[in-house]
Amino acid sequence: MSTTEQTFIAVKPDGVQRGLVGKIISRFEDRGFKLAAIKLITPGKAHLEKHYADLKDKPFFPGLVEYMNSGPICAMVWEGLDAVKTGRVLLGATNPLASAPGTIRGDFSLAVGRNVCHGSDSVESAKKEIALWFQEGEVVSWESAQAKWIYE
Ligand code: UDP
Ligand code: MG
Repeated sequence: MSTTEQTFIAVKPDGVQRGLVGKIISRFEDRGFKLAAIKLITPGKAHLEKHYADLKDKPFFPGLVEYMNSGPICAMVWEGLDAVKTGRVLLGATNPLASAPGTIRGDFSLAVGRNVCHGSDSVESAKKEIALWFQEGEVVSWESAQAKWIYE
């Protein structure tokens, strides 16, 4: 756990279509995380299959890839203390019906196949996902003026 831990967060096509990009960004900004990369992207089927490669044998995989390929995705890297685990807490449970109010999924979604956002599940997968979604140089290293007011 370090203040430079990074996680890959994406607003899925339903979140983009529903105008939730700003609200989801605000959840991460408000908590104290620092934006390190952001872009709107339609990466195509092969890229999305790679992103979800671990799930390729699941019955919902084809539908998941079709859903993710249905419109632009807002891909982001957020940085800060315990960013991966705490990012997942901000997202809520995979099934929105099990997500607590106050979480992104718990406030903005109902169906597991339309759960508006993605977040890396471990530091290792965050590294893999950031490398898959962003080129060298797209992830920006910068010093936030707020850092000394957020960290001891
Ligand atoms: N998903 C689905 N049906 C399921 C489980 C998952 O459609 O029964 C979708 C859902 O959009 C989820 C994504 O597949 O966010 C990836 O699944 P994972 O188990 O990695 O959940 P996450 O890490 O997104 O919470
Ligand atoms: Mg996952």
